[in-house]
Amino acid sequence: MKANTASRLRLYPDSVQAERLVSWTHTCRAVRNVALAERVWAYRSARRVTVRAVDQCVELTEARREHEWLRDLPAQCAQRVLRQLDTAYDNFWNPAHPAGFPRFKRKRGRQGVAFPGQAVRIRKVSRRMAQVWLPKLGWVRLRLARPIEGVVRNAAVSQDGLGWHIAFGVHQPEPVEPLVNTGPPVGVDLGIACSVFLSSEESERQRPDIFSPGEKKRLRGLEQRKARQIVYAKRHSRGRYSKRLRRTIAQIATMKARQSRRRADWNHKLTADLANNHGLIAIENLCVSNMARSAKGTIEHPGRQVLQKAGLNRSIYDQGWFEIRRQLGYKAKRSGGTLVVVPAPGTSQTCAECGVRDPDSRRGCGRLFACVHCGHTDHADRNAAINIRDRALSTAGRAGPTVSGHGRS
Ligand SMILES: [Zn+2]
Repeated sequence: MKANTASRLRLYPDSVQAERLVSWTHTCRAVRNVALAERVWAYRSARRVTVRAVDQCVELTEARREHEWLRDLPAQCAQRVLRQLDTAYDNFWNPAHPAGFPRFKRKRGRQGVAFPGQAVRIRKVSRRMAQVWLPKLGWVRLRLARPIEGVVRNAAVSQDGLGWHIAFGVHQPEPVEPLVNTGPPVGVDLGIACSVFLSSEESERQRPDIFSPGEKKRLRGLEQRKARQIVYAKRHSRGRYSKRLRRTIAQIATMKARQSRRRADWNHKLTADLANNHGLIAIENLCVSNMARSAKGTIEHPGRQVLQKAGLNRSIYDQGWFEIRRQLGYKAKRSGGTLVVVPAPGTSQTCAECGVRDPDSRRGCGRLFACVHCGHTDHADRNAAINIRDRALSTAGRAGPTVSGHGRS
């Protein structure tokens, strides 16, 4: 019984619980880094030993007897760290998986503590609030933004600029009779400037500005203050970060966390709307990693338009193109629809009316598509969205839909 859905909720530990959680996240990081170092060392040694979690769990038990700080972390959490390292290795060895070699965790990166599902209990206290029981911490308050339906298989507590979160991996039983979404088909053209064009709509959906003018001003001010404080630290205290500088950095992190949360919110609303109201969703197979690589080129074949392409890549990454595709994959499945990923070449140059492909139809840099054969004119992205939909409709019957998972494309 594996977790097949996840739900990330705000967690409100009191100050004592928060302090202990922080120290646990550091312990988890230490366990992971020591375990990884041992594995690397064992493999590099003359005997070429592959160390796994089973072996390291035994060592962990011994180490817990010696070290007070290690003993404080619940044993199940430490064991989970080792199992996760196993998974990281398995993914690295799996040629179909994009993961690279497991990395050492940095103190400045994301921190978290993972619990197995058996170790946590949830109880509702009011309509919107609940409590989760965590080993050694007792009941911790959390906001039940949406109900948790199914069996909790694991839980992960993490902290970012906004505060604490808990992510539950939940197993939901498959519906007895499969859902069928009878909504119309739709083609989606994901633009580069945070915009999305649907084949069924007359205008594009543009993601609103993430920050209000006031927030932008505040962020700019904080960045300037940070720069000033760093200069001061270099001059007067040999680069040692002052308390005030740390506070500025924390305030910037809070704003950045807010930014990414709003961005994620917009993405989720978009993909939920697409998945709930359409039986078939068609998107282009943009190969982002290839595009990123092609920008720089190699020594023999230096890339052309490196700067422009780098800008394009940045905005694609920024928009979280992979994230949208991933969400569409599972949300379409959940609501009984299908996601079809069609090959990208030519969707922006082909006329949606007569089907003739001609780069001349996209003269200039504007957003206008004007067919040189039949004279059909349309917004270029809408034209592309219709092409994407039609391609999906013509392939869905024959080859079967390609529902995207992750993996190298
Ligand atoms: Zn035409």
